[in-house]
Amino acid sequence: MKRLSKTKKILIGIALILLLLISGGALYLHPMVTFFLQTEIQQLDKQLTLVLGGGGNSGILITDKALVVIDTKMGGDAGTLFKLASEKAAGKPILVINTHYHGDHVKGNHFYKGSRIYIGNYDKAFLQKEVDPDNMPTDYVKDSLVLDLGNETILLYDLGRAHTYHDMVVYLKNRKTLFSGDLIFHHINPFLKKESGADVDKWMAALHLILNKFDLEKVIPGHGSIGGKELVLSMIDYFGDMKAAVKDPSRASVLKAKYKDWVEMPMMTSPQATIDYIREAGH
Ligand SMILES: [Zn+2]
Repeated sequence: MKRLSKTKKILIGIALILLLLISGGALYLHPMVTFFLQTEIQQLDKQLTLVLGGGGNSGILITDKALVVIDTKMGGDAGTLFKLASEKAAGKPILVINTHYHGDHVKGNHFYKGSRIYIGNYDKAFLQKEVDPDNMPTDYVKDSLVLDLGNETILLYDLGRAHTYHDMVVYLKNRKTLFSGDLIFHHINPFLKKESGADVDKWMAALHLILNKFDLEKVIPGHGSIGGKELVLSMIDYFGDMKAAVKDPSRASVLKAKYKDWVEMPMMTSPQATIDYIREAGH
């Protein structure tokens, strides 16, 4: 048998190391992949369909007057969502609502040409820098807006600064169902970015306001599986814990255990990343 040359052995060695790194990486990424890249369709009732994952969670609601799409995802899943929405619209006009401007919630907007696309009251120049022209929303909601669509009344409520500069929640009044956007992640460490305007104190205030203002039967978080009021409470609890850990760093290890089941996004979100963000931002 011909012996392998030294170069070939080295190359095989490198390939094996790469394979190990990639498979190890895939295992590490797995929970994130499940939450962010896989889609799951949930039919909540005859008219309300959820498409979870594949970017932010989305909703498709059939009403008497229009078909409503909440958050348009990104990439291939945005196209699939649009196809599903178009089929369900069956000729009705489509209204689009963006809970906030992050790409995983708005990058499918370009499919809905001619539709009204609502978003919170961001500074237009800021949004033009952050969102490609094709995906720009058409209507900025100042404070709040009620859409009376016959069999459902939808309240769009701009909470101002929290996860970003103008997060907007979407409340389906008859269903007592709230689409929270990224104000709530279900058992996933939240995403905080200075450039987006993330402010933990204001975020907590927004969560309290949600609890006081809305009668909540179902909460559809920005990412992760759906739940009820307890999702709002768990986010408040999470931020309270992280703030306490800023004051008393010895708590960090206890919190690490408490939140060990919360998904982390490598290099982006984790209890430690939240603690560091609060410490650096001062809130
Ligand atoms: Zn976001």
